[in-house]
Amino acid sequence: MQAALLKNGKFDIQDIKKPELDSKEGAIVKVKGCGLCGSDIVKLKTSSVKDGSVLGHEVVGEIVEIKTKTEFKVGDEIAMGHHIPCFNCTYCYSGHYSMCRHFKGTNIRPGGFAQYIYVSEEHLNNTVFKIPDSLSLIEASFLEPLACCIRAVKRAGLSDNTKNLILGLGSIGILMGEAVKAFGNEAYGCDIKKDRVLLSEDYGFDKSFIMTDEDKVLSDMKKYAPIGFDNIFLTAGSSGVIDFAIKSARDGANIIVFSSVKDDKGFKNNDIYYRELTILGSYSPSPVDLEDSMNLLKEGKVNVKEISTVYTLDKLNQALEDTISNKIMKAYIKI
Ligand SMILES: [Zn+2]
Ligand SMILES: [Zn+2]
Repeated sequence: MQAALLKNGKFDIQDIKKPELDSKEGAIVKVKGCGLCGSDIVKLKTSSVKDGSVLGHEVVGEIVEIKTKTEFKVGDEIAMGHHIPCFNCTYCYSGHYSMCRHFKGTNIRPGGFAQYIYVSEEHLNNTVFKIPDSLSLIEASFLEPLACCIRAVKRAGLSDNTKNLILGLGSIGILMGEAVKAFGNEAYGCDIKKDRVLLSEDYGFDKSFIMTDEDKVLSDMKKYAPIGFDNIFLTAGSSGVIDFAIKSARDGANIIVFSSVKDDKGFKNNDIYYRELTILGSYSPSPVDLEDSMNLLKEGKVNVKEISTVYTLDKLNQALEDTISNKIMKAYIKI
């Protein structure tokens, strides 16, 4: 079968061995599509994953072979999460499922940018969902990224009517705003790109701002959040937004770190201390977050239409380039 293997910071399409069920429990899934995630790009560009690996985890596909005690059967179209917590360790007991060592050790094999994957029985039991007729495959491929956002919303402890600022309006910023709104809160956005600012308002943000002069933007924001925002979500993937996040936060606010940054700059001790700010990270969803995500998609509470641009597997490097250069919002690889 064909798969995209990592090679020198790029994807290399090769023929590799198709995964087999043999006598194992689980399923062989024919991958229909897979979203290209920002974290895939980070892994690729930082060489944190070794050459020869297959990335891709925002998978949708069809079960073509199965041996299971679950209800899933051949022909089911599914969307899924790729890591499973053990539910029985210090990390799991404290709700930090994505820190669970079992979570980090589990995955689909070989990865979503391949024609077929092996999905374990444990996945079928915990992180695999049938795609309802009302959702397209592309929409269903947002199951995992939306679940990541839902996790962040929960980590921030959002009660109704809080004012939330999302810094960075790429696809994940848009999803974050939609998740914030779905939980009954106000979403405000900010980005340097005007088209993304306008797009976010199409996706239901209460108001978004173009990042021009910082002081001017802060004064414009005062109209909507006079004492500052209750929660600031960092979805930009740039340490350049940290100072602005602190300035736009109200005293006692949460700042949710949701992306890695290249230069790994930090927050200032005294801002956190004197203003009683909470800086918290949110990384990868639990099975419950995935379930919430599927429900929001199913109920149409989060709109993910027209975010993705479709590429075929042989155009994966093009998809990568177009994503990095911000030519597109989000790539969906049809396989
Ligand atoms: Zn992802
Ligand atoms: Zn655990």
